[in-house]
Amino acid sequence: MKYYDKLIFELSKKGRIGFSLPECKEGETSDSIPGNLKRQSPPDLPQVSEPDVVRHYTNLSQMNFGVDTGFYPLGSCTMKYNPKINEEIANMPGFQALHPLQPDSSVQGALSVYYGLDKALSAITGMEHFTFGPCAGAHGELTGLMIMRKYHFLRGDMKRTKVIVPDSAHGTNPASAVSCGLDVVVVKSDAEGLVDVDSLKPLLDDTVAGIMMTNPNTLGLFEKNIKEIAALVHGCGGLLYYDGANLNPLLGVARPGDMGFDIMHVNLHKTFSTPHGGGGPGAGPVGVSKELVDCLPVPRVVRNDDGTYGIIRSDKNSAGTVSGFMGNFGILLRAYAYILMLGKQNVKSAGRLAVLNANYIKESLKDCYKLPITGLCKHEFVFDGLIDDGSRDATPDSEEIKGVTTLDVAKRLLDYGFHAPTIYFPMLFHQSIMIEPTETESKETIDSFITAMKKIAEEAKNDPDSLRKAPHLTPIKRPDETAAARNPVLTFMDEKNAVRI
Ligand SMILES: *Cc1c(COP(=O)(O)O)cnc(C)c1O
Repeated sequence: MKYYDKLIFELSKKGRIGFSLPECKEGETSDSIPGNLKRQSPPDLPQVSEPDVVRHYTNLSQMNFGVDTGFYPLGSCTMKYNPKINEEIANMPGFQALHPLQPDSSVQGALSVYYGLDKALSAITGMEHFTFGPCAGAHGELTGLMIMRKYHFLRGDMKRTKVIVPDSAHGTNPASAVSCGLDVVVVKSDAEGLVDVDSLKPLLDDTVAGIMMTNPNTLGLFEKNIKEIAALVHGCGGLLYYDGANLNPLLGVARPGDMGFDIMHVNLHKTFSTPHGGGGPGAGPVGVSKELVDCLPVPRVVRNDDGTYGIIRSDKNSAGTVSGFMGNFGILLRAYAYILMLGKQNVKSAGRLAVLNANYIKESLKDCYKLPITGLCKHEFVFDGLIDDGSRDATPDSEEIKGVTTLDVAKRLLDYGFHAPTIYFPMLFHQSIMIEPTETESKETIDSFITAMKKIAEEAKNDPDSLRKAPHLTPIKRPDETAAARNPVLTFMDEKNAVRI
């Protein structure tokens, strides 16, 4: 039996202790505590030894998978290693003890972090200024669209309510547009997986607020027609929004601002290596071109002529305020530390190595997994399931896969000690497996991932039944994911039936 198979209370043995209280100081007795504050009965605490407690919680902590425990090739999410120096800096007392209501004069160091990060991100992306309120990529999208709407509104251009979104877009793009009260119009991808310029043209008129694009897109492909698209969208009076979730491969190589984008967000928890997942805390700062700076949300940090830093707290043209105080400062600080630690030269290698790693995996596995879009990818790419999935009668296009599915491959990878890639996204293919290695993985790690993927391809041919039952080695195997999300059971007891779950 593993320690985590039991609850800490079930390990309890009467009289066993892992901790002892110091003797009372002279003159102190339990009589010094007023009667009405005294417990009537002893607390119901587990009685366990220190090794039991340590092993129990250490084992529990290892039931989860994280970038600190193994390779995490989750496409679209850029799960790169988070250097520990970032944590040390975020833990420095001068930062940790800050209060958001302190006078500006007493937080000059923190304000210089906002200012410095604004400068660094602007240099990397080709934007003019950033706002740091948004707490996630999706929050950045909503903020960016609010800026877009405000820009048209200030010009009295009230008809512009349409936002064009490619069919390969991340789901948050259309969701953000709808949340912002705009109408979504989908533009198709062409056979190469890029925005189809001929399908875009007829959508462009004076009701278009803008287009939202990811470049490279969610297939890991660089939208090589971006200059033409920018000219077309600007030509009809619309703006270009850049979903910066895929900025990683462009670092130091190309800048969204130079491609013609007017507004963008950066997912600091992806590209700039801050903790990620579990719903946050993240940060999705939004940058804009020169023409849109007045519309940026407040508060915003500026440098005064005398070299001190101040905060702009209201601005009549601002799109508003999008979070409490100044965003997730701890995350912004980590990202700034990461950028400064790498320096200009190494920021450039990050993007290049991420692209190299993705192409290396793609080329190494394309004989076992279907590669619907060939050629050079950027930081990620998509397979469409196994080439030989172990089923004798499955036709390539059959909806009903009788052999081994992408879900089976993903589950089996857990047995080999890897987190699964993103699966069934993008929805352009039936059996999508979207792999993104990032630049922080060594060649040895990547090679062992390739070996595991090849072994799984062999197992699909020789032992498909076992694959369909994978994972075999994890404490939880195949939960009903929908039910787990919709009806989570958060206690260890089924209260109604008074049984332990
Ligand atoms: C992750 C991601 C988002 C959303 O970012 P969050 O920080 O998770 O809100 C948007 N678009 C793409 C392409 C992404 O990969």
